Amino acid sequence: MVALSEVVRHPTQQVRVGKVRVGGDAPVVVQSMTNTDTADIDSTVRQVRELVLAGSEIVRMTVNNDAAAAAVPHVRDRLMALGIEVPLVGCFHYNGHKLLQDHPACAEALAKYRINPGNVGFREKRDRQFEMIVERAIEYGKPVRIGANWGSLDQELAQKLMDENAALPVPRDADSVMREALVRSALESAAKAEAIGLPKDRIILSAKVSRVPDLVAVYRELARRSDYALHLGLTEAGMGAKGIVATSAALSLLLAEGIGDTIRASLTPRPGEARVVEVQVCQEVLQSLGLRAFTPQVTACPGCGRTTSSFFQELAERIENYLKAQMPVWKESYPGVEELKVAVMGCIVNGPGESKHADIGISLPGTGEQPAAPVFIDGEKRLTLRGAHIAEEFQAIVEDYVRRRYGSDTDQSAA
Ligand code: SF4
Repeated sequence: MVALSEVVRHPTQQVRVGKVRVGGDAPVVVQSMTNTDTADIDSTVRQVRELVLAGSEIVRMTVNNDAAAAAVPHVRDRLMALGIEVPLVGCFHYNGHKLLQDHPACAEALAKYRINPGNVGFREKRDRQFEMIVERAIEYGKPVRIGANWGSLDQELAQKLMDENAALPVPRDADSVMREALVRSALESAAKAEAIGLPKDRIILSAKVSRVPDLVAVYRELARRSDYALHLGLTEAGMGAKGIVATSAALSLLLAEGIGDTIRASLTPRPGEARVVEVQVCQEVLQSLGLRAFTPQVTACPGCGRTTSSFFQELAERIENYLKAQMPVWKESYPGVEELKVAVMGCIVNGPGESKHADIGISLPGTGEQPAAPVFIDGEKRLTLRGAHIAEEFQAIVEDYVRRRYGSDTDQSAA
């Protein structure tokens, strides 16, 4: 398989966010954000734990008032007591300078501060408030993400660029001026932070917009003009398939060019939907591109008129759920198991071929075919399953394969 891990990454500074490395030669990091009231310590701890168990490597939370700032160290301590040592990022808007000043325990507990240059403060106060946040980051040895956002762009800068553009003999279109304003907002703020004394390897940049082509254009420009570590994400991606597809398209285009050191999917959960979907989407994007491996992959055919039953869909789902459920334990016991490839196919047309390409595959009988399911292991047909217990037997074969291939010597002799 051609993997994008062979793509030359855009060279960036490496930033330490708690124990996690971002940028440089570090693998692309998966981030997420809570949507609980940060001051509600129980709910916030519960959700951070869920996000981390799903695979989030950094978790951001809003720190919007005194109660939230006061809660942050307790959230960190409760997570530590549960054995969860994940870097927590505080998202600050408008009053971040004051909260970090008034709540030193919060400033210390956070692994990174995220600020938006468009709403650090207004007019004459803005520079001083920005300075105060950067000073706290220097004092506590924390990195800062300078995250410009299309929806809260620095209005003075945007107006200045609009005026300059209007004076040109051939003015550019308004969207490209806004994109330039976003890029400049991020880069000029980073330069300001460096001038205050924050080292370059403690700065991460992001410049989020909600349309895929704009996002790609903005990040290409950021990468061309700087070597700061870059956090990617399509802001306000939306709900369901639309949000997932738009996010995947945007992230994939940039990651394929070697741009991006950390990613987040800003999905709006449907009512009752788990927050962890945003983590799963990021993992699927990275694994689909061959940049990282998180969980064994199941290849399943879409099915067609050659299959009159939904058995192969049920088997594919069953195997996928089984593999996911085993991963927390397998990760420890069977290093490398996340690279495993399993195929569950619906008939003889592509079934044997696809199954041979997987580490372990099964080709179920289509309509009118012999009621037999050949199983392929490491590219060879090894046995044929028949009867009412194909699902259970195939699952047992997968389990045995994992133990033999990824287990210790003791496990292999026991197999
Ligand atoms: S493998 Fe068979 S059942 Fe599956 S999509 Fe192809 S032809 Fe249809």
